[in-house]
Formats: sequence, structure tokens, C-alpha cells
Amino acid sequence: MTEHTLTVAGVAVDTRHWIGGRRVASAETFTDVSPIDGSVIGEISRGTALEAAAAVAAAKAAFPAWAATSRAERARILHAVADGVEKRIEELSIVETTDNGALLRSHRRGVMPRVAHNFRFFADWLLKLEHEDFETRGHTNHVSWDPAGPSVLITPWNAPLMLATWKVAPALAAGNTVVLKPAEWSPLTASLLADIAAEAGLPAGVLNVVQGYGSEVGDALTSHPDVRRISFTGSVPTARRIAESAAGNLTPLSLELGGKSPLLVFADADLDLAVDLAVEQYDNAGQVCLAATRFLVEESVAKEFTRRFVEKAATLTQGDPRHETTDIGPNIHPRQLEKIDAFVQRALAAGARAVIGGHRKDTQYYAPTLLTDVAQDSEIVQEEVFGPVLTLQTFSTEEEAVRLANDTRFGLAATLATADAERAERVTAQLVAGTVWVNCFFVRDLQAPFGGSRHSGVGREGGTWSFDFYCDVKNTVTAP
Ligand code: NAD
Repeated sequence: MTEHTLTVAGVAVDTRHWIGGRRVASAETFTDVSPIDGSVIGEISRGTALEAAAAVAAAKAAFPAWAATSRAERARILHAVADGVEKRIEELSIVETTDNGALLRSHRRGVMPRVAHNFRFFADWLLKLEHEDFETRGHTNHVSWDPAGPSVLITPWNAPLMLATWKVAPALAAGNTVVLKPAEWSPLTASLLADIAAEAGLPAGVLNVVQGYGSEVGDALTSHPDVRRISFTGSVPTARRIAESAAGNLTPLSLELGGKSPLLVFADADLDLAVDLAVEQYDNAGQVCLAATRFLVEESVAKEFTRRFVEKAATLTQGDPRHETTDIGPNIHPRQLEKIDAFVQRALAAGARAVIGGHRKDTQYYAPTLLTDVAQDSEIVQEEVFGPVLTLQTFSTEEEAVRLANDTRFGLAATLATADAERAERVTAQLVAGTVWVNCFFVRDLQAPFGGSRHSGVGREGGTWSFDFYCDVKNTVTAP
């Protein structure tokens, strides 16, 4: 324990950066606050261009040896990281809940096991990654995935360690070295990941973690000329700034951004299933990029759907995310809550009706909200709120449903509830979305591509798509 160690719910967390296998403090700090009750967790090192440069230099120095490490050895170490995560699921869960306010039971049972799975999956996929050979006039074309170099990974606060490791694991598996910058509202579990990776035997400099504000250390990282890949998950305005920073060096980018995804409920759907899917959209207090926040319901069942939705939503318990019985926790920050409420108040002023909610509960919690009487071109239908706020519109034909679903600048996901398989196929083919769920939500194989269309992102990650992004894919042509 040092003066830089915080004890968070009994767990020791180092508040400094992790650079080149050493803990490094900054002169300045920023304050980390718990969304559960607004209490101060502690002071975290506030990185600058100096620490960004040091982290990239460490990643650059460690790159040749890590890139030359056999696939089997890289996979072995990634499995050892997964073992370390599994041993610390309890600690990671309570620290993450304290830091970002998401449900403790979700962290324990779903999120942290998935963090371990991210490492295992990409370790195993690396071993399966096949080199394709083609033949042209007797010449062999041999395709290989070469490690690209130091990779900067920038992540948001809504699922901090899950989203970070969704990038860290494939980047390391590919043979790249990494500088991870977690969001300043949820910096803690990335620091624990650095400890776990070091204990698992990941060599110094292969994974670096820098803390701080996006506009400071983040900007310095994304404009650094020695960075070979940038993978970013976050908002559209930040993606634009990162793209500008990266443009100077033409650094390849992967962007996983926001959404305003539809849930289409057709009259032939199992309405109980549709309502279950609908209520699920309040998960993580609505702070889910993939959330189907726009309900599009066939006119003839809209009244009954709404009745059952209201009934089901009333059974949700909102409160302390550490309690086993809580379904909806706080929003991340009072500033976020203000933003959510401003969206809702403007919508109400423009003529929307709150079927449920429509107001904050206190400075950290927002009442689960469903708004009707909203115009297609209104702000509340077109902009991502990132809180427990859903809208409901009706349609009378399949064509209208598709038109409303696609009438957005986003294209991350879409969910359909219908009992008609042919309709599902027909509608899916017309939807602009990176992922379409038919009569389900959120289930996804890590082999499948993940990403968004339009303003929801650039590129796809997952399975071989991740290796395509993190590697310099090479074709070697050999004469007969
Ligand atoms: P954000 O864009 O404000 O911040 C994300 C990260 O970018 C943070 O680490 C932040 O410090 C950093 N950053 C900010 N400015 C930067 C700059 N100039 N240079 C470099 N880095 C910078 O997003 P947020 O509020 O943390 O997250 C919410 C957003 O993320 C929502 O739009 C949500 O839909 C999106 N999201 C998308 C996915 C996906 O997979 N598509 C997943 C989760 C969240």
C-alpha cells in the first residue's frame, strides 16, 4: 500500500498510471466520485501529454518482442489473465459497481465472467486463425495477419472493464502492444486489470494504462505518430475529434459509437415476449449503446402492449445497485442526469406525454420513462439520451415500420418481435443496423461481427474482424 492506493469497498486500487511495468504518478489528479451516493472515492492521476508519450514509448519498446512471441505463448498468457479475472470476480464487481453504479449482481454473474471470456475467446481464436492460400497461374498467394504495432484503446464508462477488454484481448492476441485509457468517470477497474495482467506474466510495456481526461491525455494519445491503431468506443462528437487527431498520421480507426435503435413490435408477436424485450431496455439505467430506445408498435396492438409494459415496468425496483433486488441503479453523474432531464422536459414541452416517469428522482436517479405523442423528427426520437428514457410510436404497415426504423442517423442495432419468420427475414433485409435481434435481445457470439452503420460506427470487431483491424494483413505471392 502506498499513498497512491485507495481502498474501495475493501479492495486496494492503485490510482496511478501503469507504464512500462511501473506505477507512475502525475503531478495533478482528478476526483473520482461514486454514482451510488455522490461520495468521493478518491483522487486519480491526471495524465498529460507527458504520460501519453511515455506510455506510447513503452508500448513501442515492448512491441518487437511481444510481436515475435509465439501464438501459443501469447494465448497461454491471455488465458492466465482470464484466470486472474476469474479469481477476482468479486473484487472487480464491487469496485466497478462503486465506480459506475451498474448492478452488482450483473457484474458478478454476467459482466465479469464475460471479461474473462473476452481473453479466453481471443486467445483461442488466435490459435484457430487460419492462413488462407489462393493460387493464381501456379503462384501461391499466402495471407497472414502481422501485428500492427502500439494500439491506443479508448473506452467509455457504461461498461468499463467489459468494453476495455473487448479491445485489449484481441489487440494483445494479435501481437500488438496497448495503451488503454479508460473513461475519467470510471477509472478503477482498468488499474486492477494492469495488476492482473502483470501477475499473469504479461511482459512490461505490453499493456499500459493511462488515466485522465479525454481532451488532455486522450488527445495526446490519438495524435501520437507512433500509434498504429486506435480503437474507440464512445460518443459521436468525441469520435469526430479523435478522427481529426488521427488524420495527421492516417492512423487506422475502429469506432463503436452511439445508437437510437428501434424495437419493432408487429401485431403477430408474442406480446408478453415483446414486453419483456421492451422492459429490458431500462437495463443499466438506460446507459447501453445497443438499447432499443424507440418502440415502434403496430397500431392494432399498441394499447395492449402499452398496458402490459406499464404493468411490468411498475415491478422494477430502482435503488442501490449493490442490493440483490435492485433492477435499475443510478445514472453515472449528476451532469448526465441533468442532460437526460433536459431532453425529457424539452420533449414534454413539445407535446410529448409521459406514460410513466418523466422526472428525476434525486440527483443520481432518473425515473424510468416512456414517452408517447412524439414526432418522428423531434429531438427525443432522433438523439441518443443515454438514460432510462424510451419513446413509443405506432405504425400501420410493414413499410411504415421499416421507414420509421431507418429514419435516423444511427444504425447500431434493431430488435424485432414477430411470429412470422418470413416477415422477420423481409424486414431484417431492409434495416440499416450492425446487429438485428429477432425475438431476442443482447445475445451475441463473439465470433460474429460487431459494430454500427452510419453514425453508429466505422468498422467491425469480433472474431476474425478484430484480427483484421488490429493486424497488418499481408499477402505473400510466391512463384512456382
Ligand atoms: P465519450 O465520447 O464522452 O467518452 C468516451 C471516452 O473518450 C472517454 O474515455 C473519454 O475520456 C475519451 N475522450 C473524450 N474526448 C477525447 C478526445 N478528444 N480524445 C481522445 N479521447 C477522448 O463517451 P461516454 O459518455 O464515455 O460514453 C457514452 C457513449 O458511448 C454513448 O454515445 C454510447 O452509445 C457510446 N457507446 C458505444 C458502444 C458501442 O459499442 N457502440 C458501447 C458503449 C457505449
